[in-house]
Amino acid sequence: MRPVGGEQMDSVILKPGKDKAIRNHHHWIFSGAVRTLPDFEDGSVLAVRGADGDLLGHAYFNRSSSIIGRMISFGKTPPEDALRHSVDRALAMRRRLFDPAVTNAVRLVNAEGDHLPGLVADLYADTLVLQVATLGMERLKPLVLDLLVRAVRPATVYERSDVAARREEGLREFAGTLQGPPAGKVRILEEGLPFLVDVVESQKTGFYLDQREMRKLVRVLARDRRVLNAFSFTGAFSVYALKGGAVRADSVDSSVPAIALAQENFDLNGLSSDAGYFFTADVFEFLRSPDLDYDFIILDPPAFAKRKADVVQACRGYKDINRLAFQKVRTPGLVLTCSCSHFVDEKLFQQVVFQAAGEAGRRARIVQRHRQAMDHPVNIYHPETEYLKALLLYVD
Ligand code: SAH
Repeated sequence: MRPVGGEQMDSVILKPGKDKAIRNHHHWIFSGAVRTLPDFEDGSVLAVRGADGDLLGHAYFNRSSSIIGRMISFGKTPPEDALRHSVDRALAMRRRLFDPAVTNAVRLVNAEGDHLPGLVADLYADTLVLQVATLGMERLKPLVLDLLVRAVRPATVYERSDVAARREEGLREFAGTLQGPPAGKVRILEEGLPFLVDVVESQKTGFYLDQREMRKLVRVLARDRRVLNAFSFTGAFSVYALKGGAVRADSVDSSVPAIALAQENFDLNGLSSDAGYFFTADVFEFLRSPDLDYDFIILDPPAFAKRKADVVQACRGYKDINRLAFQKVRTPGLVLTCSCSHFVDEKLFQQVVFQAAGEAGRRARIVQRHRQAMDHPVNIYHPETEYLKALLLYVD
């Protein structure tokens, strides 16, 4: 890392009027906002100044990315100190919010949500899983990894940086064990329930931690209901539903390994094989089957809109599955419908869901709204960190 502060000639100078977002602690600098770039090697940390020469903070820069710079410190705080503070504060928040005797699978660092752009760190029991999305964070990895390892003392550190975003950064995808014995399937506890997480083979870093609070809601509401867990992944919603007294909880996912792990998770939780059926199937087709008898349908699809340009197409997908769910749910029933597409905001999502209910000829009322779990904090200065929303609808 370069020495802190820097001379003006070593600084990135923003165009007049283009520094407002950064002054408001947004993390991203787009190339169009930059007036002067010094000579630098991609991935380095540089001082960022307003057109008037004011030091706004420090960011790491990469010319190959459309987001040319990502702020890691604001104001005069030296970037190394800011990184240390951000890691400390991220860990302190989780220590205060989670009791490891009840829940030991937690997102420790949520990128910009914890002021650490490009970095995700998830702890699954004693396995730390790291995901690095940018060249700048790749350069800072030794420093942040050292801070995390000293604080958390994991047995194994595994890196799951097999994310497509790295290509735009000029980085290759990477996955592998960084420290300790080889990673594999890890047994975690979430809200007192055991689950197996495959940190190596599975999607994301292994578990959809962001849905934890919605799973708790399902446990509370599932009593005496027949539950369909659509897009079930490894069956977590089904396990919670059954622990909450559901008559049956069926799981549908297109991924064979996810369904296999869902079955293992049933065994691990002492649930008998007739507690729910497992279907490796496309939810769009499954929901068209005749004679579905569910009175609680959970829809937790993958992000249909990964880019802004996908929004229209994504809304069609959301409308389809929601219309089918409204048509099929036995009334009075519940539909918990989720979207993790940042680009489909809550207002638009609600419109799509209401249109779907209208087309299905059902009366649906929102009885709860939900967001991503507490360990996926939203940085109020950086609204892009908000992505997951869910509506619980009472259908009669
Ligand atoms: N609810 C889950 C997370 C769901 S992630 C949990 O709490 O753990 C989305 C899941 O949808 C993934 O497991 C993916 O395999 C699955 N999926 C994607 N497209 C699908 C489709 N068309 N039909 C069925 N499953 C699909």
